[in-house]
Amino acid sequence: MSFSLVYQKIKEYQTIILFGHKRPDGDCYGSQFGLKDIIKTTFSDKSVFVVGEKVSYLSFIGQLDEIDDDIFKDALAIVLDTATRDRISDSRYKLCKEIIKIDHHIVLDNYGDINVVEELIPATCLLLTKFLLSNENLKISLVGATALYTGTVTDTGNFRYRGVNEETMQLAGKLLSYGVNVEHIDQLLSVQSLRAVRLKSYVYRTFKVTKNGFAYAIINRLIIKYFNVGYDEAASLVSLLANIQECPVWALIIKYPKDIRVRIRSNGPNINTLAEKYDGGGHHKAAGATLKSSSKIRQFVKDADNLVKEYKEKQEPII
Ligand code: AMP
Repeated sequence: MSFSLVYQKIKEYQTIILFGHKRPDGDCYGSQFGLKDIIKTTFSDKSVFVVGEKVSYLSFIGQLDEIDDDIFKDALAIVLDTATRDRISDSRYKLCKEIIKIDHHIVLDNYGDINVVEELIPATCLLLTKFLLSNENLKISLVGATALYTGTVTDTGNFRYRGVNEETMQLAGKLLSYGVNVEHIDQLLSVQSLRAVRLKSYVYRTFKVTKNGFAYAIINRLIIKYFNVGYDEAASLVSLLANIQECPVWALIIKYPKDIRVRIRSNGPNINTLAEKYDGGGHHKAAGATLKSSSKIRQFVKDADNLVKEYKEKQEPII
């Protein structure tokens, strides 16, 4: 079983470096810091580092480490919540002696020497909770349980998304048994700036709907500057276009300085194939894509509109 292999490798190495994906989310941070806590609580003498990109709204989960390149060469790399090697946020994983991948995305790239992937589990944090429970020697503190619970809450949309089942609740319940403060986590994740509220009103005023019902909004650099918000804060607004009855697929298109990132969501057709066509990937109902230039937006919107059209044609008419 791969969990026991992961346990053996953790035992074997003195230095372990935990990686996540670019533009990290709650499940990425939660799984990195949750696993760090499991390893440190179980094996206090090991050196465990978390590397990646800083995200201020998630900083309550843990603080990133800054480490020199020479630390990597004798280390075990564990990459969390990251489907493909080009999404790993720190390319120094290549310097490490061995790589373990632990993830829950659709498998596109088995880049690890050991790959532990459960596509149907709704958060990598839950997969790590299973790892924790798989071996009675493994321990976790309240800090780690809080990290894993936070990632679970964010990736399941507060236990509302597809994939949430009896096991999800049992594993989350196990995390709560360490004393996690659910209300406090919710407050930390829900707080919003006045600027963000104003940007929301902009998105609501300007979003477009295609002929067949693909809803999308575009946020460019000028808008980001005007509302004085961060790119990640702006990107979080994809959920504003959710649950419009006529629009089973929706997206937020954000023009970053170097490329254009599309966050796509669906409660109808699977969208991962559409995302993959545009240098992206993800899950069936939540995926992301990258567009090289503004000229690609029109084609992307057309493809998304077609996807909705085909989906609606297959649906039973509502009488
Ligand atoms: P996001 O919109 O960033 O929350 O992404 C939704 C899902 O798609 C997440 O599971 C991401 O890991 C995945 N994803 C987002 N962007 C990409 C990309 N460019 N390539 C592969 N997967 C992606």
